Amino acid sequence: MSKKANIFRTPIGTRDLMPSESARWEAVTNVFTDVASRAGFCLVDTPIFEDVGVFSRIGEGTDVVGKEMYEFRDRSDRPMALRPEGTASVCRAFAQHRPPVPWKVYYRGPYFRYEAPQAGRFRQFHQFGIESIGSDDPDIDVEVIAVAWEVLRSVGLQRVPLVINSMGDPDTRARYQEALRRYLSNRLSEIDEEDKDKVESHPLRVLDSKRPATQAVTNDAPKIGEFLTPDAEQHFDRVKDGLGSLDIPFAIEPTLVRGLDYYTHTTFEFQSSALETAQNTVCGGGRYNGLIEELGGPPTPGIGFGMGIERLLLACDAEESFPSPGSDTQVWVVDVADGRSARDLTHQLRNHGIVADRAFDGRSMRSQMRSADRSGAKIALIVGEQELADRTVAIRMLREDEGEQAVVPREKTLTEVQRLLGLDP
Ligand code: ATP
Ligand code: MG
Repeated sequence: MSKKANIFRTPIGTRDLMPSESARWEAVTNVFTDVASRAGFCLVDTPIFEDVGVFSRIGEGTDVVGKEMYEFRDRSDRPMALRPEGTASVCRAFAQHRPPVPWKVYYRGPYFRYEAPQAGRFRQFHQFGIESIGSDDPDIDVEVIAVAWEVLRSVGLQRVPLVINSMGDPDTRARYQEALRRYLSNRLSEIDEEDKDKVESHPLRVLDSKRPATQAVTNDAPKIGEFLTPDAEQHFDRVKDGLGSLDIPFAIEPTLVRGLDYYTHTTFEFQSSALETAQNTVCGGGRYNGLIEELGGPPTPGIGFGMGIERLLLACDAEESFPSPGSDTQVWVVDVADGRSARDLTHQLRNHGIVADRAFDGRSMRSQMRSADRSGAKIALIVGEQELADRTVAIRMLREDEGEQAVVPREKTLTEVQRLLGLDP
């Protein structure tokens, strides 16, 4: 009896990044890297797994840490977690290395959450993010938001409006938290079962709930804006002033809060109006003036954002922007003699910075010309028995009507190709 081998597939909630989507991914990564570096941010790359405490200490009681985190013990029984988000790792790195401030870094890579997979929600997903650590200046809030804005603009998105809010300072927060707890307690019976236990312990996190019954109650809840201290008000005014001056349109969303205790002052999101509402947040960020201290560092303010790459590209699909870049093959070498010319010419061209390719397995002329056409190359170099004997190469321009074919001596091929491509020899 023949036994059929299992076909393994990607785990639920993960995917393979295949050509040509992978080329688009590279392109969007380059856009992000360019925009972030132009604003003075440098790459930081932290491990994909960390001591579980890096995330659990600061995210206690959140879904991300409580229900969604991939936790495991390594072979020496150390508690570890696959990172569910970027900010905690970067702040851990800051507390560990104590670099000079302001420390402006960007990161990109995979993150892991055990969620119910659906469009725009994966178990392994990817983020771009930046963090600016060490300054309380509201102009940094503007700078960070401007980086996210510029990334979205550079990929051609037009329907991803910015919403902002202020969480104020710790004093604002304490007074607001009390008022909110009182309000929610009075309407406890109307709140979704799943959210009820947060009313006492973490009332602000109730505002984050996407459950309709809870939202009906939180819609009329007191707003944090009414509790801002004069200092907090001043910070927020400067941020609004900066966004206005940079022509970055925004709306104030009084219910936009972050449930974690270390968030203060500015919070913001970019939400795509072209995507389903449950998965429409392309980018979320905010100021966290208590986080580094929580991780054992000196009291240090910071602000940053995380942008979901899958969501960003979904929004691009919905707006028909940022298509996969086409092939960049410049030259195709067709060899119907013995294949040695194709081997040597592609090598020579590539070493001079030209994108060159060829077919293998001694295909027919017709088949090789078809590959040349499909590659998108501008130029085909053709070597048959005659050219091989004469030590010449025939050159055909592929994008022009039945252009004639020029024949050049073999040793002149490189300079002729450079001339035809408009490159300096
Ligand atoms: P959501 O409300 O959509 O669950 P979140 O508030 O949990 O998002 P953050 O922790 O702020 O998300 O992460 C930053 C960004 O990462 C989000 O705005 C989103 O674009 C993206 N993101 C978060 N979780 C996922 C996921 N499971 N799959 C794909 N992208 C995600
Ligand atoms: Mg989430």
